[in-house]
Amino acid sequence: MKLIEKECPNCGASLSFTKEDTSCKCEYCKREFEIERDENKKKLEEQFNLLELKTPLKIFSYITFGTFISHFIVFLFVFAIIVFISFNIVKGLNDSNSIFNDNTNFVTTASDLSNNDYDTLDLNSRITILKETTGTTTEYMVKGDYKREKIYIISSKKTNILIPVYKVVYENVFDKSEEFKHTIYIPVEYRNIKSKNNSIAFSIGNGRIVADEYYFNLEHSDYSYGYPDMDTLYEKVIKQYEKDYKIVEK
Ligand SMILES: [Zn+2]
Repeated sequence: MKLIEKECPNCGASLSFTKEDTSCKCEYCKREFEIERDENKKKLEEQFNLLELKTPLKIFSYITFGTFISHFIVFLFVFAIIVFISFNIVKGLNDSNSIFNDNTNFVTTASDLSNNDYDTLDLNSRITILKETTGTTTEYMVKGDYKREKIYIISSKKTNILIPVYKVVYENVFDKSEEFKHTIYIPVEYRNIKSKNNSIAFSIGNGRIVADEYYFNLEHSDYSYGYPDMDTLYEKVIKQYEKDYKIVEK
């Protein structure tokens, strides 16, 4: 049987095969090729084309018999995979502690709040109280400013709740004597508050008043939300968290 000679497309060494062969292998670089035949060509040698195998075998041949360059490429590839896997293992280990890690920027103590944060809370709360109580009183007006009486920082491993409480004094517009003054403690609730770069501004959404309606002058349908004193507020609002949450107050 006549042997056909061709140059190895990979290394240029001489490569021989018979007409019947469908594949051949370079003895020098050990690369395998598919033999494609085009009988329209006149010369026998020109009829044969050597194509690189497009099968997983090719990858296999790179790994086992490849040249230095291909070894190096495979090495880089394997190295990248190892780095990728190691990275994910480390990340996975961290993720398994993620409840703890996530908590690191959750506000859990008073010292997690900067002075700016208190201002942010007070401003938001003032807007919330105004929005949620506007129109509820006709005869009574808020006297002076809203004073933050206390802040409850309620946290579990998964979330936190900030409840600043504001002392609001309502006075009768027609009779400003002490007799008609009503002091109300209004708790405003914020959830999932995190601190980044020493600021909670990015995570503070809308607060909401957490109180049953506390009526102070039903006869005239004047009322506001809140509690008459801090003990009642604690009993009605904060106490429900005692079992599952850590409560810090300031
Ligand atoms: Zn070769």
